[in-house]
Amino acid sequence: MPKTASAVSSMEVLILNTGGTINMILGQRGYVPEPYFLTESLRTQNRFHDPLEESLFSHSSSAQLPSMITPRSTAPGGIQKRVRYAVLEWDPLLDSSNIEITDWIRIATEIELNYAAFDAFVILHGTDTMSYTSSALSFLLEDLGKTVIVTGAQIPLSQLRNDAVDNLLGALVLAGHYIIPECCLFFNHTLYRGNRVSKISSYDLNAFASPNFPPLVNVGIDIVVNWNDVMRQTSLRRFRSHKATLRLFPGITAATVRAFLAPETQGVVLETYGAGNAPQRSDLVGALKEACDRGVVIVSISQCAKGSVSDAYETGRSLLSAGVVSGGDMTPECALTKLSYLLSKPELSFSEVRALVGTPLRGELTRPVSVIPPRSASQGHRQQPREHLRGALAGSPALLRPDPRQTRRNIAIGGGLVNCVEPASRRSPLHSAALNGSAGALVHLRDSLGHTPLYYAARQGHEQVVEVW
Ligand code: ASP
Repeated sequence: MPKTASAVSSMEVLILNTGGTINMILGQRGYVPEPYFLTESLRTQNRFHDPLEESLFSHSSSAQLPSMITPRSTAPGGIQKRVRYAVLEWDPLLDSSNIEITDWIRIATEIELNYAAFDAFVILHGTDTMSYTSSALSFLLEDLGKTVIVTGAQIPLSQLRNDAVDNLLGALVLAGHYIIPECCLFFNHTLYRGNRVSKISSYDLNAFASPNFPPLVNVGIDIVVNWNDVMRQTSLRRFRSHKATLRLFPGITAATVRAFLAPETQGVVLETYGAGNAPQRSDLVGALKEACDRGVVIVSISQCAKGSVSDAYETGRSLLSAGVVSGGDMTPECALTKLSYLLSKPELSFSEVRALVGTPLRGELTRPVSVIPPRSASQGHRQQPREHLRGALAGSPALLRPDPRQTRRNIAIGGGLVNCVEPASRRSPLHSAALNGSAGALVHLRDSLGHTPLYYAARQGHEQVVEVW
């Protein structure tokens, strides 16, 4: 069958290339980043860029960057898809050990600026601090409605044998075929929730693990998406902050702890033993209590990769009664970036920050079965429905306000089905819901006519179901 532009659908992805090994070439002094090498190299590889597809593509996109387009793949339901993508490269490319908080804000801002023009985002990043960045972005990108995937490589693309091709192509395919509206990390055929991962190996291609949460997607012969665990959200805000981690060790002195908790410190992640235990020394617990009383937010997480902080032991309880907050099963990267994020919000009081530390905001921690999290003022505020339709057609980040009956039904049938499209019309349940005046699923899916559910909701005058920031 001859290829025609109308027989296939395409998603537009922006790749933000911040640096890392994936960009490097072997120079006389070891691996060094080579500007534009990655983009030029992708352009010459057929699996990353198909010139025939390029000639067939109709240029309706608002994207201004030079772009490339993958060959077609056959998606579930027999629909052919191709991924059109542009690369925005940082100058200079960074080794991720030099990444700073301002770089996280830069990534978040670049996503925000390009949010309406692209369907998904891939961030190329060095592996050393990748899990810090994916954790930080999971909090910065509030109410995310599109897929964001951070990836990189242990061996550069410039090497014959590498993991760069699989990681980049896998991330691009996932970003171009599925709407997984979270900040994720893709590595070694696995898509993880970004705030659940840690780097576990400096030499294995399986460099990351998510000890307390299952992968969102496994890419094998088939791509298996764990839809039941995929979150749905939608908007973007910024942050700034101060934080630190303190790891307990046998013999740690109260003076060390006091120095660490000096007055300019606003928050500390305390890496405790086992299930959240610390030595039962009054000088130590006293130093922690003194800081908590002063308004320092101290979050306890476990030094063990697997497991959670609990109040099972007296040694752990005494910390909690001194004012230390349980960080549950958060990774150190996640606890630090979450604390930074919360402390950077001037509208939150000390006690609200403490309450939110232990409350899952982006699926970053497993809620203990017996604990009912306190409702914060900011959450309460965000749950107030506001009914404005302005901007919906321009592609602003938006949320369809769920009809409670509809929501209950959606929860019952699970996320996978909510995201299924009806093959003939390419309409999702949300397209139908918007046409009919009730709602409750992903807002960025497009049907065969290229329309989002919000477009239909606006066109049909169903203002009562749309909430827009
Ligand atoms: N040092 C490199 C970085 O994190 C390591 C890597 O990319 O794998 O940028």
